[in-house]
Amino acid sequence: MRSILLLAAVLPLAAQDPAALWKAVLQPAFDPDKAAPVQNLSLTRDRLRLTLTQGTIQFTTPQNGLVFGAAFEGRGRLQLQPPAGPESQQLRLFTGKDVLDAEFTEAVFHFGDATYDQLASQLRFGPAPGPRLARLYQDRRQEHEDLGDALAPRLFKSLLSADRKRTAFFAAEVKTSNHGWIEVQLDSLEHEELRAGRWAAPLSGTGKHLDTWLNFPAGDRPPAEVFRQPLAKEDFLIRDYRIEANVAQSAELRATARVNLQFQAPGERVLLFELDSNLRIESVKDGERALPFFQSRDPKGRDRPSGDYVAVVLPDPSQPGQTLSLDFVYAGKHVIHKVGAGNYFCQSYGWYPTRPESFAARAGFHLVFRHPKDYTLVATGNKISQSADGKVILTEWKSDLPLAVAGFAFGDFKLYSEKAGAISVDVYANRRPDDSMASIASDDGFGPPTGQLPALGSLSPSALAKTMGIEVANTLRLFERYFGPYPYKSLAVTNIPFSYGQGWPGLLYLSALSFLDSTQRNTLGITHHTQITDFFRAHEASHQWWGHRVGWKSYHDQWLSEGFAQFSGNLYVLFRKGEKEFVTRLREDRQELLSRDQRNRVYESIGPIWMGRRLASSDSPRAYSNIVYNKGGLVLYMLQSLLADPRAQPPDARFMALMQEFCQTYHNQPASTEDFQKMAEKHMLPHMDLDGNGRLDWFFRQYVYSTGLPRYEFRYSVQPAGDKQWKVTGSLLPREVPPGWKDVLRLYLHASGKVARIGWLRASDQELPFEFNLPMKPDKLSLNANEETLADIKQ
Ligand SMILES: [Zn+2]
Repeated sequence: MRSILLLAAVLPLAAQDPAALWKAVLQPAFDPDKAAPVQNLSLTRDRLRLTLTQGTIQFTTPQNGLVFGAAFEGRGRLQLQPPAGPESQQLRLFTGKDVLDAEFTEAVFHFGDATYDQLASQLRFGPAPGPRLARLYQDRRQEHEDLGDALAPRLFKSLLSADRKRTAFFAAEVKTSNHGWIEVQLDSLEHEELRAGRWAAPLSGTGKHLDTWLNFPAGDRPPAEVFRQPLAKEDFLIRDYRIEANVAQSAELRATARVNLQFQAPGERVLLFELDSNLRIESVKDGERALPFFQSRDPKGRDRPSGDYVAVVLPDPSQPGQTLSLDFVYAGKHVIHKVGAGNYFCQSYGWYPTRPESFAARAGFHLVFRHPKDYTLVATGNKISQSADGKVILTEWKSDLPLAVAGFAFGDFKLYSEKAGAISVDVYANRRPDDSMASIASDDGFGPPTGQLPALGSLSPSALAKTMGIEVANTLRLFERYFGPYPYKSLAVTNIPFSYGQGWPGLLYLSALSFLDSTQRNTLGITHHTQITDFFRAHEASHQWWGHRVGWKSYHDQWLSEGFAQFSGNLYVLFRKGEKEFVTRLREDRQELLSRDQRNRVYESIGPIWMGRRLASSDSPRAYSNIVYNKGGLVLYMLQSLLADPRAQPPDARFMALMQEFCQTYHNQPASTEDFQKMAEKHMLPHMDLDGNGRLDWFFRQYVYSTGLPRYEFRYSVQPAGDKQWKVTGSLLPREVPPGWKDVLRLYLHASGKVARIGWLRASDQELPFEFNLPMKPDKLSLNANEETLADIKQ
């Protein structure tokens, strides 16, 4: 009944012309008679308090009775007290203070909630003093559009929603003397409704970055609780896609994407999607009915922020359980890039309409491609048909399992296939090098082109196709042993320009650099051979498990994808290259983690692994990768080491059982850090139970949820104790150990050129003495012989 009443209350909205309302949001008109002097007017939203001490406020012209914006000048104060813990630590990092408390002189407000009614009842309106406040609001609006953010569609959605409580939205931008424009918002459609931060220019580089100072749930709910059902706040779930795409030799992509969705929420008229704005939408239809839609502006291929939002307006409000098929028709030239003879780079993100956070969701994909017959196309899913129509080839791909994402690659490929058990590993390698490789081959970089560098030989990725097939197949074999079954039937591997990689379900995009042989790498002065070959391929291949077989519930859990992939890359190096290279790799990861950012702060101190993508800021652009990847990988390795039993066969049996059960339990579903901790506790060994409660809270609290690494000093002496016995006495002393910290460290015995793992020693913020007998005289005792703890140990 409740929803019917709500719908009745806003029925006049149905009469609103969506295009007029959209224009009003994008280029708002201010009401010349809706200005008012203010004095000590305050507005409270959860932990946020705004006080307009003295000044003038003016509002936007109502749209069908709704006022959605205001601008203010005068004196005001913004106060926001974050919850204790990582949030206040983040705020301190950006502002040096534990509480956000700032005076401001100008402000603009955007609201899709009851803000106007609240304020209006306390104001006496009169004529505006001039156009300044209207201009202030419009300038901020323009700046946001230029930054490519999605404030306009979000506001638009609230204005057309019949459930104004569910979609309530409030945002304030205030101009401060210390930090410039600060932005705060309360968005009821987010799991962590409160957010504060600002757009900041990086110390080096161009553009602006949105630094998130604070982001936490309203009502003091714990983040783990609000993300337990990561899709609970979605208006709708996408059940499946059918995408028909034409890929042209000119690199133009033209597609019709049918999105079959099912509503969860009542009363919604605006559906929000993301699509690369280089792809321009021609129509969105529900059957034969064309729907109004609004898209971020066209960047026209230029490298500048433009946003990637799409807002589609339904004629009637949504009803839970109702299904809908939307057909998006769109085309554009800058999503596939021609990068050399027969070389095309196909962007993995943004080529079809998606929802943000798609890694917590899964949808079926049925893809149909048409492309010129001189080229080959490979896509996610199983190829279910191929036919030719004159100069065009048509292929059809279908996924067995619902997937988080889909992608494709296209070019003049040579195909090489290899088997890893029942899995077919198919390498699609370009026959000719891409432009950047070709320029390396013909130019030494210090003058006019000199022709071929003789030592380089062929830089065509296809020259290494067989090696790639064998190596990638090896990674799958190892990961199946450790993590359980590979989730798909085949894995396609293709080269891309640039120096990165991306693992999509059943489809790996690997940097062309990883298709070079060792002679070529040497000639090009590349020194980190293992990192760009064995490690890199294995990291990307392992995303088939980390990200795809097991997704993540929220950005707090991104390390379950990237940290676990980093771990997997290193694990493969151990098996492929041996212990020495493996330990070297771990040390490289650790060194990066302990290196310093542009403000001379140790990366590790910037924030916990749990902070996820928020770690990347204008001051610390590499904090995300150094912490989520490197520290995340090292933390999983610590856990592997704690679970290793040298007497078991294999010594990693327990760790393998943990990882396999984790993959099986969360098969094709998202998992959280808390879910993983519970699984680890199920498999833990008695020596790990430092709190005596069967839990690993100490481990996760120290290494995942907080920052800081302890330093211990290891001291011991050995005395003969008669009867072929030697007595070892010593202690672990705390040196710079945070209060309450604890660890358990593996003890190694070195004798006659051999190293043996002989037991465990506890360490804490107190000195812990130990004493035991050995049946032989050791050459040396040591801790951390294989970098298996992040603790720093002086010995
Ligand atoms: Zn990765």
